[in-house]
Formats: sequence, C-alpha cells, structure tokens
Amino acid sequence: MKRFSKAPEKRRLRKSKFYTEERKCSVLHGLYVPHDGMTGSVKKGAYDYCYACQVTQGGLSMREQYIINADIYVEGELQTGVLGIHEGTIRFYPAGCEIPADAEVIDGSRKKVVPGFIDIHTHGAVGVDVNGASADDFEKIGSFFAGNGTTAWLASILTDTSEQTGRCIGAYKEYRDSARSGAQLLGFHMEGPFLAAEYKGAMPEELLREGDIGLVERYQAMAEGAIRYITVSPEVAGVPDMIPELTARGIAVAIGHSGADYATAMDAIRRGARAVTHTGNAMRLLHQHEPAVWGAALESDAYCEVICDGRHLHPGTVRLIIKTKGIHRVVAITDSIMAAGLPDGNYHLGVNSVVVENGDAKLAATGVRAGSTLTQGAALKNLLEFTGLPLTDILPMLTENPAKLIGVYDRKGSIADGKDADLVLLNEKNEIADVFIGGTRWKGSLSQA
Ligand SMILES: [Zn+2]
Ligand SMILES: [Zn+2]
Repeated sequence: MKRFSKAPEKRRLRKSKFYTEERKCSVLHGLYVPHDGMTGSVKKGAYDYCYACQVTQGGLSMREQYIINADIYVEGELQTGVLGIHEGTIRFYPAGCEIPADAEVIDGSRKKVVPGFIDIHTHGAVGVDVNGASADDFEKIGSFFAGNGTTAWLASILTDTSEQTGRCIGAYKEYRDSARSGAQLLGFHMEGPFLAAEYKGAMPEELLREGDIGLVERYQAMAEGAIRYITVSPEVAGVPDMIPELTARGIAVAIGHSGADYATAMDAIRRGARAVTHTGNAMRLLHQHEPAVWGAALESDAYCEVICDGRHLHPGTVRLIIKTKGIHRVVAITDSIMAAGLPDGNYHLGVNSVVVENGDAKLAATGVRAGSTLTQGAALKNLLEFTGLPLTDILPMLTENPAKLIGVYDRKGSIADGKDADLVLLNEKNEIADVFIGGTRWKGSLSQA
C-alpha cells in the first residue's frame, strides 16, 4: 500500500490535464485520473477507472514489481534489461540496475516480455455473445482473453436493432463503472449497420441501412464516447459523406462487407477510412481489370485486419498481405464468436444460429463462415508458422498497429516508459506464460496454474 501512503493525488493532479472536479472515480477512490487517453480529449464521463481502481482490480498488491532475467521487447528488438512496474505503468531499466529492497522481484527465466495483445474485432467467447452481453459477461470474456494474451479489446457489435444495441451499450457502462478484472474493455467496434446486403455475411439483411450519422451520434451519446471504431461499406448510399464526419468525432473508420469497386474504395480511404475489415473475407475480390475493394486495401496505406486461423485466409494469402502491406499495416484480429474457448456445438452470433465443427463456425442456415474460434495467442503462433518471420516482426500486428488504429498508442501497444503495464510473457515456444494487466498479474496465467 506504500504507493498511496505517499498521497500521489497531488502529483497525479498536476500531471493530468484531464482533471476536473466532477470526474471522481465511480468506484471507491478519489484519485481523479480519468483513464481515457483514447481520444486525447475528455468528454464528460468518458473514462474507465481512476488510477487506483486500475491497479487494484483483482485486489492484488500495489507493490513495485521488477521483472528480471527476461528479454524485453523494446523499440522492435528483444533487449536485456529490467522492467519495472510502478503504479500500473512500466519503466525500462538497464540490466543490473538497483532494485528497491521492498519491491517484488519476478524472475523472468529468460522469457520474452512483450506488450499485451489488443483485439479490436471480436464478438465474444466462452459462451457470451457481445450483442447480448451483461456487464458480468463482458468481464467473463475479458477473463478468457487475459489467459490468452489479450489485455485490451473492443467489443464488436454485430448489426442489430437499436434496442439491442442500446442495451449492449448500457451493459458496457455498467461494466466500466465498477472495478473489473481481466482484459480491459476499451469500448466498441460497430460492425454495421451501414453495410452492403450483397456482402452481408452474418448481418441480418433487414437491419442494414443507408448512411446515417445521426444514428451513430445517438449511439455515441449513449456510449459516452466509447465507440472507437466502425465498419462501413463505402458503396452504400450516404456512407462516403459520413466518413469524414466519423473521423472528426474520433471514430476510426474501416471499410468492409463490401462489393465496392476500386474507385469507390479508394475514395473512401481518401476521405479518411483508415482500415479494411477482415481483408479478403466478405468483400469483392481482386480482379486484374477491377482491383475492387481488396485491391484498394492492398495498394493503399490503410491498415488491413486479418483473421489468422488458417481458415479465413490461406497461409499464402496471409504472407501475400504481409509482404504487400508491411508489418506496420497489418492488424491481427480474432473476429471470434461466443464459441471461442468452448467445444464444437450449436451457438449463435447476434440473431443467427451458428454451428461449430472442428472449431470452424458457420451459419446454420447457409453454411457461410461466421466468425472464428481463434484467440490472439493462437493467432501469434499461426502467424509465426505461416510466415517464418521472427517474433519481433510479428508482434506489431497484435500490439502497436491495433493501438495506433484505435488511438490508444499513447498508453498501450508497446513497452515504453510511462505506458500501461499491460504485458505478456512468452515462453520458448512463444506460448503465453504470464500476463499483467495494468500492473496486476493475471491470476489465470499459466505459470501460476
Ligand atoms: Zn464481419
Ligand atoms: Zn465481425
């Protein structure tokens, strides 16, 4: 408890330009540090936890921790050194640095310390579908994710009725306003409803609609700024004009579920779309006379989401995308559904019935593939296997790139002084051996099992 006996409030308040009197932590502390940082500006109520809640979630120790005897991923390289965890944030020290006598020393046993993974596109896991999730359900998903190396995530709302979408947003706010353990839910990715029927995938067609910035504004007001990311189809009426409006509101725009031609897709990117949703899936494919949305995805500088489960994309396609885009423009997502972490069987995704066989999720009605049962821990191993690239080249796709895309790189997505202590320790087989979230050691970590 020594951190708080030093009354950090004063120092914190000076440092935080976000401080306002009304913004007291809603849990039990009075430390006033809005855990925002997402948009670079604070809207009323747009925060997760005060600092103290962040470090005490899970009720674990607030002692300073030092990870020694580890290889630490800093500035794109594995470096020897010591990683300090102070007040939920990290600091990199040279090997052999002095460690305070009262600090907790963690022997890294030559494991690799890498940033926690960030999943910006997932519909659920362990029996929970995001669209129908309660506050406790969000925590359940986050707990499963934490054990698989994901320390922060966005919940993807599949196109649904406004009542159901509003209910989901309400559950998120309840989650946000209480101390929660597991991967941190940073807000929402909206997959729809401004999508093309022709490439709807698992979207209920009757709920798809033309571009309507007013609807997003209503949802965003309900969510108090928590909508960070949205997938739209650029060929849908009203969508091109929405793109600059969305980006101006701090919502990162992806194009996808789209049959757009090349010119339309490129125009959307010029207007501010920064990413492409599950590249190669649910989109018009590249043709030599009409490169279409996939061609625009590859040629432009947009981030490309990829689902690396070996089913959604052939390993050769994954290699092609990475070779074309480079390691700093690919984002490894799961697009996982409620069946992730569970055996084969019958599940649902939004309003759809889904059958999972051999881990492969398909719509019961049509056999169309409907999300994955992938985890980011498995995606890391697949990417290593598919590409033969070194770990240091693969990591940005799970960490830095998604953080930059959704605007949280100032505090997440890399190991740098002052950033959140969201960390994964990988063993020699690059399996998840230990996880820290906001400096708290995750109880589900394998090394402690
Ligand atoms: Zn999709
Ligand atoms: Zn999805």
